[in-house]
Order: sequence, then C-alpha cells, then structure tokens
Amino acid sequence: MGTLTEQQQKVSALLKKAPLIISGPCSAETEEQVMATARGLAATGKVDIMRAGIWKPRTRPGSFEGIGTKGLPWLQQAKKETGIPVAVEVATAKQVEDALHFDVDVLWVGARTTVNPFSVQEIADALKGVKIPVLIKNPLNPDLELWVGGMERIAKAGIEDLGLIHRGFSSYGNTEFRNAPMWHLAIEMKRRFPGIPMINDPSHICGRRDILQSVAQQAIDLDFDGLIIESHVDPDNAWSDAKQQITPDVLKAMLDSMHWRKEAVQNEDLQSALEAMRQQINQLDDELLQVLSTRMKVAQKIGEYKKNNEITILQTNRWNEILDRAVAKGSKLGLSDEFVTKYMDAVHMESINQQNKVMNN
Ligand code: PEP
Ligand code: MN
Repeated sequence: MGTLTEQQQKVSALLKKAPLIISGPCSAETEEQVMATARGLAATGKVDIMRAGIWKPRTRPGSFEGIGTKGLPWLQQAKKETGIPVAVEVATAKQVEDALHFDVDVLWVGARTTVNPFSVQEIADALKGVKIPVLIKNPLNPDLELWVGGMERIAKAGIEDLGLIHRGFSSYGNTEFRNAPMWHLAIEMKRRFPGIPMINDPSHICGRRDILQSVAQQAIDLDFDGLIIESHVDPDNAWSDAKQQITPDVLKAMLDSMHWRKEAVQNEDLQSALEAMRQQINQLDDELLQVLSTRMKVAQKIGEYKKNNEITILQTNRWNEILDRAVAKGSKLGLSDEFVTKYMDAVHMESINQQNKVMNN
C-alpha cells in the first residue's frame, strides 16, 4: 500500500491524541453556516477535527435528509481556511466515493448503519485499499456484538486507524436522555479493545443542552479518549438536532470549565495513597465474599430443612421481611434503597438457586 501523504499522517496521529475533540454542526446546511461555524470552532483553539453531516439518516421521511454531495466543497473550503481536518458520516459505497473525492479526512459510521451488517460491509468493501481513519458509532440497540462486528468488518478492509463513538442506545421509558448512555457497554468495549480510542458523543445521548457538560465530564472521568459535540453558529435555527447543539463560544466555555482528569497518577505520594485504598477495597471485597459464602451455607441448611418438611422454597412474607429490614438498615448506613434492593434481589436469587440444588438433588 502506498505511503501516506503529509495530511494523512497528521490525521492518523490525531487519532492517538487524548482528549480528542471533534465538533461541528449536526448537518451542513449552507456554505455560510459551514464557514461561520468553522471560523468559530477555529477561534476556540480546541477543536481537532470538524464534523458535519452531509447525508442524514432520518428515522422518518420528510425531515431534512442532508444537503448531499454539494456540501462537500464547503467542507473543503472550511479545511483550507482553518487547517482543521473534516469528518463526515457515510452509509453507502457512493457516499464513501464522494467523500474521498472531496478529500474528507475522517469517516464515521452512524448508529443506524452499525445495526445493519449489509450496509457496514458495503462501506468496508468501498474502503479496500484506502487509508483513512474510520469511527464506528454504537448501534441503536444495546447489542455489543453488533458494535464489535461493525468494527471487525471495517478492520478487515485494511483500515488501521479505528475509533469507537459511544452515542447511547434507544430505550423505552427513558426520560432524562434522548439515548440511554448504558455506560457499562462502552466500558466493556474499552476493556475488550484497549488500543482503540473511545469517544463520547454527549450531544446524541442528551438530546438537550442543559445536561451536556455533566455527561461529557462523566465520560472524561471514565477515561474516555475524546468527545464529539455538535456545534452550530445559530443552534436554535439548525435544520436538524436544534435542541442539542451549542455555539462554538459555548463549546469553548464548556471545555474550559471541565476537569481533565487522567487515568494514571504521576505523583508518587498520590500513587501510593491510591494503592493503599485499593488494597483496602480488595480486602473488603474478600471479606464480603466470605460473608456471602457463609450466608449461602446457611441457606443450604434451610433448604435441607424445607426438603425434609415438604415446605416451598419461596416464602413471600419472609422475603418481604428480609427486604424491608435490609432497606431500613441500609438507609441508616448511607446506602440507597435502589442499591440495597438490587443487591438483596441478587443475594435472594442465589439463595433460591442453592436451595433448589439441595431440594431437587
Ligand atoms: C449524527 O452524528 O449526526 C448522527 C446522525 O448520529 P447517530 O448516528 O449517533 O444518530
Ligand atoms: Mn445530530
């Protein structure tokens, strides 16, 4: 494969930078809007890559579906003026071809595409022999294997600079967020693929401005490698995702007021204090496991007693009593009702399983 151009080397190196900041409008709308937003972002001095949607996968027809290929020269112009590399979402082979033709520097696969292996494969096939970083958004539904599969398809096409974007998941009964963060899924991806940057997209998780910063901060506290945040010169009049976009000035203020915590502690004293507390946690976890094991042994004895006397395993009144007692006690000890209930549920289920073994052996 040919050598990388200077621009390709620069962009490839950017993917290894942390925190990586990507920002720009949900959609490119007009040349003026793209240029004004690009200038605003450049003035912040904090944006590594400018994003703009050219083709917008909307859930239902009738809303703005993107300006299309005619917006790509605007991004070329924005890059020429600001020096900031540009990123767009691609969902078909033709879109990949057009984006490459107009020198787009980074591609991303959207949440509605990651769910569909046929579409991801079409993109992967169009990328054979191409050197460009590709970011893969999590699928709409909380299915980790689909996210992994999307990444594998792109990797198999020979793409070496990969990144993941955590944009939250569709869920019912979810009021605070537009897309439920389900942080544990992104954390599991980070654990499985430690070398691949994990970028948080608070804009699509929140769907609103007021909680954007707290979600972004949480991502940084969880050692994410960067943020992708939608920004627009005139957010209220944006043609898509108006409620969640912020101006470049607001973006700068937000990034300035965040705490940029690092995973590794450099200072040795801090490191040893942290180590001592971690040892304490390990010790306490061991003790908890010991106590739980003792508790299960008692449950087994109860199982034998119930078996010999033909009594059912589940005694609803007794379970209510245990739960009420634990919630009341936990609350005095500073533990939330929710936590104590979840914990006791898990302990109770394990007790039932152990008793089941005894009684049906
Ligand atoms: C977007 O980034 O504008 C977008 C469409 O996001 P998602 O694929 O996460 O819905
Ligand atoms: Mn958007």
